[in-house]
Amino acid sequence: MAEIGSARRLMEDYQRHIVQLAELRVLLEERLGAADAGLDDIAEIEAAIERMDLGLYGTCRRCEAFIPVAQLRLAPHKQECAACRERMRMSA
Ligand SMILES: [Zn+2]
Repeated sequence: MAEIGSARRLMEDYQRHIVQLAELRVLLEERLGAADAGLDDIAEIEAAIERMDLGLYGTCRRCEAFIPVAQLRLAPHKQECAACRERMRMSA
């Protein structure tokens, strides 16, 4: 019976993931339509939506680590993990 339980949990995780992706897509589209979105922002947002369509959204563009959902909610267009962003900041 443990296998049925874990299959259900996997399914629930998957459904939660799909719902989160849909929420994040709305956030991205809102950001894209925001009057104060600069050209750099728009390029980043469009790249993030493209990654979503490819099924890569939510993983770091540099090291492929998973990006926490809390971080994606704050900045849905940022597709680097905290460690890579810190490295980018240090080398800028
Ligand atoms: Zn990374």
